[in-house]
Amino acid sequence: SIRAKVMLYSQYGQPDQVLRCVSHELPSSPKGKEVLLQTIACPINPSDINQIQGVYPSRPELKAQYGQSEPVAVGGNEGLFKVLAVGNQVSGLKEGDWVIPNNVNFGTWRSHVLSEESALMKMEKTISANQAATIAVNPSSAYQMLTLYEDLKPGDWFIQNGGNSQVGRSAIQIGKKLGLNSISIVRNRDNLKELVDELTALGATKVITEEENASREFGKTIAEWTNGKPIKLALNCVGGDNCTNMVRKLGQDGTLVTYGGMSMKPVTVPTTLFIFKNITAKGFWISANIQRIPGSREDTIKAVQKMMEDGDLVDVKMYENPVSADASEDEVFQVFQKALAKSNQGKQLVVF
Ligand code: NDP
Repeated sequence: SIRAKVMLYSQYGQPDQVLRCVSHELPSSPKGKEVLLQTIACPINPSDINQIQGVYPSRPELKAQYGQSEPVAVGGNEGLFKVLAVGNQVSGLKEGDWVIPNNVNFGTWRSHVLSEESALMKMEKTISANQAATIAVNPSSAYQMLTLYEDLKPGDWFIQNGGNSQVGRSAIQIGKKLGLNSISIVRNRDNLKELVDELTALGATKVITEEENASREFGKTIAEWTNGKPIKLALNCVGGDNCTNMVRKLGQDGTLVTYGGMSMKPVTVPTTLFIFKNITAKGFWISANIQRIPGSREDTIKAVQKMMEDGDLVDVKMYENPVSADASEDEVFQVFQKALAKSNQGKQLVVF
């Protein structure tokens, strides 16, 4: 049998307070439709943390499992797994294949898992493991937001804040591939030029700071860049003044799509923009979209994977937190704790 290590919680709260690592036995020979998986890598996404805090609307049910005295849930929603063995009724997977969960709330923060085949989606090994481990949330969200809301044509402009986020970096690259022009708003920093160069190399048309975004004077520069073309779409993961100032850049009939709230401040759209520019403000949630539009998760992942295969979407910067093969519960726990603590300093990936 295999001793699986699982990061779980029995009550909601700060991850460093409520998470713990336990181990449990898994049979090495799965039965029927079961598939035995070994984790390759799993990311730490903002929504994973919000789930554990109990403030995220979609979360796994706390239930009696893994020999725990109270009901528990396993952390993590995204990840890449390797098939170790399959039951005799499994038809589409074999030992060595790569899979990702078919849906959210899978509980990916663990070393091994026994899953039904129907809960898994096979991934062709045409992209890197890190890309496969993170394809379902951030690049897929960027792709859907750029393609589902406005009928953007090559040469059209969109604007986004959180330009340095994983979603933002994906939107820059996908936008470039679709022939779109982008303006990405980032927070100012000492090494701003380095970041601007990096995003420009990814395909950003323009990168501006929050201060430039807030300046009326700078609005003229933007109008020169766009050469009078209306900016049709704004993607917001920050909120607050940053978002309000970004909405001012939208053209007539433009759409604001809000998908995150990193500043924890509400979204304010000036009344005049609603009335005189006929701005539409919408929310985006990938979990709801994939329920609402059947097949959209697979279609999106396929489209994004193709861009990765073609080199249009490059392996973005991630920080790997390795777990050794014979790690104890405590060692696994420490790796996750460190990755969680650094999760506001770039995308953290726990690698098994
Ligand atoms: P990352 O961890 O890669 O990046 C977070 C970004 O937020 C960084 O660029 C950081 O800026 C920026 N940021 C943090 N705090 C602030 C602040 N106070 N003001 C301005 N910017 C800030 O994040 P992800 O790409 O994984 O996710 C980005 C957002 O998208 C999150 O809010 C996430 O919840 C959301 N999301 C939503 C989805 C949906 O379906 N609705 C799907 C996927 C993601 P800096 O670079 O300066 O540090």
